Amino acid sequence: MFESDKLSELKQLLDTPKKIVITAHKSADGDSVGSSLALYHFLKKLNHDVSICHPDKSPFFYQWLSAAEDILTLEENSAEITEKFKAAEIVFALDYNHPSRIGDLQPLFLNNNGIKVMVDHHQNPANEFFDLSFSFPKICSTCEIIYELIVHIKDQSFVDVPTGEAIYCGIMTDTGSFRFPSTTARTHRIIAELLELGVVNNKVHESVFDTNNIDKIKLNGYALSEKLTLLSNLPVAYIALSKAEQTQFKAKKGDTEGLVNKALSIQGVKMAVFFKEDTDYVKISFRSKGDTYVNKLASENFEGGGHVYAAGGKFDGSLEEAIQKLVTLLPQYVNH
Ligand code: 5GP
Ligand code: MN
Repeated sequence: MFESDKLSELKQLLDTPKKIVITAHKSADGDSVGSSLALYHFLKKLNHDVSICHPDKSPFFYQWLSAAEDILTLEENSAEITEKFKAAEIVFALDYNHPSRIGDLQPLFLNNNGIKVMVDHHQNPANEFFDLSFSFPKICSTCEIIYELIVHIKDQSFVDVPTGEAIYCGIMTDTGSFRFPSTTARTHRIIAELLELGVVNNKVHESVFDTNNIDKIKLNGYALSEKLTLLSNLPVAYIALSKAEQTQFKAKKGDTEGLVNKALSIQGVKMAVFFKEDTDYVKISFRSKGDTYVNKLASENFEGGGHVYAAGGKFDGSLEEAIQKLVTLLPQYVNH
């Protein structure tokens, strides 16, 4: 799957110990955390001096992953991160393909003089920002690409249980537990290989999905019973949560993850949208299925992007204005 000259270049780069920084996109998810940790474990085995520098902390249900406590965040380790970037000879960009996706890490990334290596599966890579690009938009997750890189650079013996759990976690979350169209026979074979080397599948599922607390369940219940709107003229459903509502239900990071998929699961619905009011903008999650795609809707109108069936973006203005803008645009983007 890899172009041999690119793979050789990466192999050569990693032949001697280097100072390496691993980055991933803002609003950490299972794939960005999983791929960062898997690569971290691998590079440490090769005797590199490795740090993971993320814009923000991930939700608590990813923090059981081995070495998650080593992840530096701008929120908590700003000075250390600045030093790491100054010294880094290689910077890995995982699960994103444009520096604007790393928020306030962006200036450090752009000022670093090292070699930038992107490993990603989103559409429209901005290759000009990277010295080496491993971009595979058809592959379900960055974790799957990291697995392939490890076995091509070395071999399967370099995937131990902590590395395997991190890879399993990212594949599981980015495929909606192996159900999205991006899941291939190869994905399942990799999962089988991970199980053979000792990863316990139910441990990963339970640690991520079965650790809800009562506040989260009530917030999701409220969102579905009171805040779900099904349009009458188009097969679209949306949920909007204000800052006040999030405070009322003691919402924590990650508590609304997956909510948009519930809206998409309504029979006949082709697109679902989740609006979440943040401090200075509205964060938007788009999901779709069948012949309706959301990446263009997000990139052309909401400063975002992503995949054909899962994308994100933002809106500068009120929740009501964001909804109004979406509703006006929908006829152009929804097949009905
Ligand atoms: P989510 O809705 O789960 O936050 O994101 C869905 C997908 O869209 C993920 O692959 C995520 O990386 C991508 N995405 C989310 N927000 C943005 C954004 O603001 N810009 C871009 N380019 N992609 C985004
Ligand atoms: Mn991903």
